[in-house]
Amino acid sequence: MDYHFTVMMYRLSQFGISGMHLVFALFIIACLPGYIAHTKGHSFLKWWIYGVLLFVVALPGSLLLQKRQRVLDEREMSNGDYKKCAGCAELIRSEAEFCRFCGSNQRF
Ligand SMILES: [Zn+2]
Repeated sequence: MDYHFTVMMYRLSQFGISGMHLVFALFIIACLPGYIAHTKGHSFLKWWIYGVLLFVVALPGSLLLQKRQRVLDEREMSNGDYKKCAGCAELIRSEAEFCRFCGSNQRF
């Protein structure tokens, strides 16, 4: 194994930090690109795995992701907080009687 890596692992072991600790820490910080991707309508799991394998690439990659608005809209509608306006197809609150975008009556 690479000499510098061996030395680094030895120094860390002096502080009681083992390879398992580093892998565990990577599993935790890989949640960051996973979470960022999730908030943009992408798969948490795929981006978490990507983060575990290649964190330095996955993190900026997740920040540069485009939002999947359709997925985000469906997520909002599936928990019942929002519905799609029949008049203009914008997302509005489920309780709304009038659309805040086009003003159409939602009761009919
Ligand atoms: Zn509307």
